[in-house]
Amino acid sequence: MNRKFLAAIFAGILLLHSGWVVYTQNAKAPRPLRMEKVKGDLYMISGEGGNVAVYVTSEGVVLVDDMFDRNHVDILAQVKSVTDKPIKYVLNTHQHDDHAGGDFKMLPIAEVIAHRNARANLVHIQQPYYEDTPGTPIGLPRITFTDEASVFLGGKEVRAKYFGRGHTSGDAVVIFPDLGVIHTGDLFLGKQAPRAGAPPSTRPPGVNIYVDYAQGGSFMDWTRTLDGVLSLQFDTVIPGHGSLSNKADIVQFRSDLETMRTRLIGIVKASTTKDSMVNILESDYGWQAKGCPLTPPTSGCLQFQQSDAMFAELKR
Ligand SMILES: [Zn+2]
Repeated sequence: MNRKFLAAIFAGILLLHSGWVVYTQNAKAPRPLRMEKVKGDLYMISGEGGNVAVYVTSEGVVLVDDMFDRNHVDILAQVKSVTDKPIKYVLNTHQHDDHAGGDFKMLPIAEVIAHRNARANLVHIQQPYYEDTPGTPIGLPRITFTDEASVFLGGKEVRAKYFGRGHTSGDAVVIFPDLGVIHTGDLFLGKQAPRAGAPPSTRPPGVNIYVDYAQGGSFMDWTRTLDGVLSLQFDTVIPGHGSLSNKADIVQFRSDLETMRTRLIGIVKASTTKDSMVNILESDYGWQAKGCPLTPPTSGCLQFQQSDAMFAELKR
């Protein structure tokens, strides 16, 4: 072993060690989670990050998403409260760390499945963990799909489908065909309960979304992607965030998104800078351009990188 080689190993150990120190010193405490029954043997875990679907079968459990790395232990405990069966599969709706941040810890115990673009985004960006701590380990799914993939377990089916770009370039919608339930990931966001005593909103129709342009998202394609989702047979919806919803809620969300986008396109086509678009988003739709960090990509937060990309896309 020559000295250069030894020095390289030593530098590598130092690097790993410093990442670990940052991670362990800055790791946030997880918020408590809760679980509710959706239908039959299907449950939803919420409380932090994206909603997690838990499907119990006689041969094991299928999860859709696994929240942040820091939620792993609580997710295992929530699953354990309804079944002794092991988690066998995790389907990712996309690669953001509030949905897929638990992959690294799931990989030793379950197969993780994602759209091939979601995995490619993870490999390419190497910084998927917007909200979590620097140094949080990245778990790469071992199985990917392009159009559709099904898991058959204990006589039940869970199907993931890809309908195109929207929130990212790799958004999967997961269907529980026997129950008429879907998990939309962040292609659709459910209603959040209004603040107690808040006056009714006077805003024009619109949605608080995040178009992740850095990871292939598209405002223009989003409605077409939702049309694909709406072609499915279902009545109940587990949204990426927010409370349990139904098909009519997605129809409304799609309509509000299109109304808002049409108005923005009109403004953008008549402008030479993004300012008027940003001003309208802030004043009329409650988005926030100033005071947003570059990351995390927050719904309704218009980070500068995103407003440039959005202006360019709507100008086309
Ligand atoms: Zn997301």
